[in-house]
Amino acid sequence: MSEPAIKPPSPPAIIRPDKDTFLAEENPFEAMMERFDHAAQLLNLDPGLYKVLRNPEKQIIVSVPVLRDSGELEVYTGYRVLYNTSRGPAKGGIRFDLNVTLEEVKALAAWMTWKCALVNIPFGGSKGGVVCDPSTMSMGELERVTRRYTASIIETLGPDSDVPAPDVNTNERVMAWIMDTYSMHHRHLVTSVVTGKPVEMGGSLGRREATGRGCMIVTREALGKLGMSLKGARVAVQGFGNVGSIAADLMAKEGAVIVGVSDKSGALYSAKGLDVPDLLKWVREHRQLAGYPQADAIAKDQLLTVECDVLVPAATENVITRKNAPQIKAKVICEGANGPTTAAADEILEKKGIFVIPDILANAGGVTVSYFEWVQDRGGYFWDEDTVNRRLESIMTRSFHEMMAMVEKHKVSTRIACYMLAVERVAAMHRLRGMYA
Ligand code: NAD
Repeated sequence: MSEPAIKPPSPPAIIRPDKDTFLAEENPFEAMMERFDHAAQLLNLDPGLYKVLRNPEKQIIVSVPVLRDSGELEVYTGYRVLYNTSRGPAKGGIRFDLNVTLEEVKALAAWMTWKCALVNIPFGGSKGGVVCDPSTMSMGELERVTRRYTASIIETLGPDSDVPAPDVNTNERVMAWIMDTYSMHHRHLVTSVVTGKPVEMGGSLGRREATGRGCMIVTREALGKLGMSLKGARVAVQGFGNVGSIAADLMAKEGAVIVGVSDKSGALYSAKGLDVPDLLKWVREHRQLAGYPQADAIAKDQLLTVECDVLVPAATENVITRKNAPQIKAKVICEGANGPTTAAADEILEKKGIFVIPDILANAGGVTVSYFEWVQDRGGYFWDEDTVNRRLESIMTRSFHEMMAMVEKHKVSTRIACYMLAVERVAAMHRLRGMYA
């Protein structure tokens, strides 16, 4: 057929102000990679292995059609990224959020890889998410999103291949649906396919508190290094969800004074200390901190720069940036959230002499007890809470001191020390296994 004489005009270029194409400072994958590159350089990583570790193993994008209660059909986008599985089955949470992007999921999957290697548990790293707003969904809609997403990625899931856990806006309930969907497809019960399940169905005692408990343990160790103690330390916590509220509660139980807390709805401050059990009760009843009458409300952003000894960002990523880092007054930052500090802010914090407990260590308590849960499910033998907490304590303190040994040996920041430990462990496994290339 001959060419038409007049070509149809080409469509106008679409310029989409995609979050992913913004400044590298806000691109979580680039931020993670900057730290990885630094560690790889110091480790003198072989160029081939460097390329392998810079790329995710598998990236899955699925459409998730869901029948809304109104009878309308909605289609959500779901992701699952397996970053590296050389050390064991991929392990990583699933988040339901409107801000989920592939770049973010990739970064979080890589973080999981480094985190599992850092605390030396036999898992690789993965992450998943569905772009949706669970606050506008009924329980039935949430269940249908969960089940359809699970069915769409079912080939990757499995106790020996990829084991999800809760993350932002997902919880025990969601994990129970994932486990049920997977088990229905496999025609028998497979509890070890997810962690963070309800205790009644194979979850581990202490899992719900594990991430916050891990934050408390490493903060106590960091304060010890500075000649301080949790007793009497002033702590500000951003995010009052699973991680933040439990970290605040456990630190307060160790004698810390919680001077500030915040969530999406607002921030609270009290120089003489907040009553954490009372705050927890308020949030259970009102589902938000805003309106709490026993403390002063402050601007949400102010929480990060209040006078305190310890700052625990436990909400979301990129909250400590080059803009607010100079104003931070804390002596210790315990990164409860994943990626709360940008690479540019890292430099500022280092110059200020702030002791940063990097996310891949600070919030590793969750995946550590997830590992315990997986072990218990596979063994069919369950531990008491004290055993779980003692074993968590031992892994967190050991990892903290391994990080400090690396800091001292290589004269690097705590973050780079963590990356060096983690990247070297993953690289060592690749070297031993050899590359099937
Ligand atoms: P969550 O949904 O239970 O709580 C998040 C909290 O942050 C909520 O209180 C929310 O209102 C608040 N928040 C959100 N945006 C905020 C903002 N701009 N300012 C102040 N508060 C804000 O989630 P979670 O499980 O506690 O997870 C929090 C972070 O910790 C995430 O980065 C997650 O990836 C990370 N993390 C969680 C676990 C875990 O076991 N839950 C483990 C490792 C890492």
